[in-house]
Amino acid sequence: RNQEEDVYDFLFKIVLIGDSGVGKSCLISRFTKDQFSMEQQPTIGVEFSTKTIKISDKIIKAQIWDTAGQERYRAITSAYYRGAAGALIVFDITKQTSFENLAKWYKELQEHSDVQIVTMLIGNKCDLADQRNISKDAASKFAQEYDMAYLETSALHSTNVEQAFHQIIKYIYDSTI
Ligand code: GDP
Ligand code: MG
Repeated sequence: RNQEEDVYDFLFKIVLIGDSGVGKSCLISRFTKDQFSMEQQPTIGVEFSTKTIKISDKIIKAQIWDTAGQERYRAITSAYYRGAAGALIVFDITKQTSFENLAKWYKELQEHSDVQIVTMLIGNKCDLADQRNISKDAASKFAQEYDMAYLETSALHSTNVEQAFHQIIKYIYDSTI
């Protein structure tokens, strides 16, 4: 039979949150399709994308959820968070407000998610070094306060995108076994 096999050991739901425009959709399309778009992606009507990776001989299917722009109105529904094992909290290193809003995003996540959710802080658009507004130190300090790892990414240049997703999947895997 020519049926596509869908065999995996673990299925992890991962959500991305953070202000509109920080690059959440671009990070997801870079990781799942190795594609990048200069335009902000409009609502696509797809709730999640998937990618299967291997960690310690286990096949892990990551189900990565993207908002459809609801974050603009702070109207992300609880269905978005339901059952999530991990969350990437994303800000834009050139945009001060996206950094200032992190505490709100963290709080919203804690209110809606299961208590043991694994979180990681992502400073995206690190290719725009000359426009940087948030220092690595400030971001690392924030991450430390909230007990999160911190990674800087560029969806445009593919910097650390694989690493970010692999790292959170590994953290989730380590916390489940
Ligand atoms: P979202 O609203 O958080 O989903 O953000 P999008 O993924 O739609 O990206 C918003 C804008 O930022 C788009 O114009 C992207 O092309 C741009 N963008 C996303 N990631 C990067 C990046 O790593 N570097 C640069 N320079 N631009 C990016
Ligand atoms: Mg988006």
